Amino acid sequence: MPQNKLILLGTSSGVPQPDRATSGYLLKTGDSLSLLDCGGGVSSSFLRRGLNPADLDRIFITHTHPDHVCELPLMIQMLYLAGRNDEITVYVPKEFVQSLKSYLPAVYLFREKLTFDLNIAGYTPGAVYDELFKLEAIANEHLVGNQGVIEQFGYSNRMQSHCFSIDTGQSKLFYSGDIHSFGDIRDHLDGNDIALIESTHYDLDELLELAPRIKVGKYILTHLGDRAQIDEIHDRIQKTGIDNIVTAFEGMEITFE
Ligand SMILES: [Zn+2]
Ligand SMILES: [Zn+2]
Repeated sequence: MPQNKLILLGTSSGVPQPDRATSGYLLKTGDSLSLLDCGGGVSSSFLRRGLNPADLDRIFITHTHPDHVCELPLMIQMLYLAGRNDEITVYVPKEFVQSLKSYLPAVYLFREKLTFDLNIAGYTPGAVYDELFKLEAIANEHLVGNQGVIEQFGYSNRMQSHCFSIDTGQSKLFYSGDIHSFGDIRDHLDGNDIALIESTHYDLDELLELAPRIKVGKYILTHLGDRAQIDEIHDRIQKTGIDNIVTAFEGMEITFE
């Protein structure tokens, strides 16, 4: 039985970095590959890991900020050019389905030309996927700051942003996606074997204070800025003496059951 792994493909925040891709995380369960988010640089990072595009089975997108979704068309193109035949499902927030269906032909990714069936599935909070593992979407407030401009100018955006809770039957993983404040994730961390947490949109002290009091196997802090910001986070963790929080890097692999 092949080991289950979380493989970090892109660990940069929404501020692009010269040496790292933006958000992209690969979940390898047995022989099956699932991609969580698909920001800029994720396709190249996927190839740098020596992986075969034909082996990607499904993609889940937490929210539609560019650093989480902008490279989805390129990923689809890569699958197409690799001669993929098997159907693939892309799970996106429901509000994005029509936009994506319009955008793909605009960049000449015509459904009829693809060598595989592309299934675009819009999800809402709750159970998203339940086959090889269970993935549940938990709504968060990350996009609420846009409410004013959306109302004032009549945009149709619904501000759908999610954390993912993943259960393999043996292990529990939590991926924060992007959040609005620590309150979005505080009650969802306890009991996870792996917590992949963004580090941009809340005060890290809130996590460092809670961490020793709840049961989490390993925290991986991701969605990171430049080297100086990573070093600063690293120093803060060191000072607390907490030994199960690490900062993410591209190519990092964490095994789980
Ligand atoms: Zn982001
Ligand atoms: Zn975001």
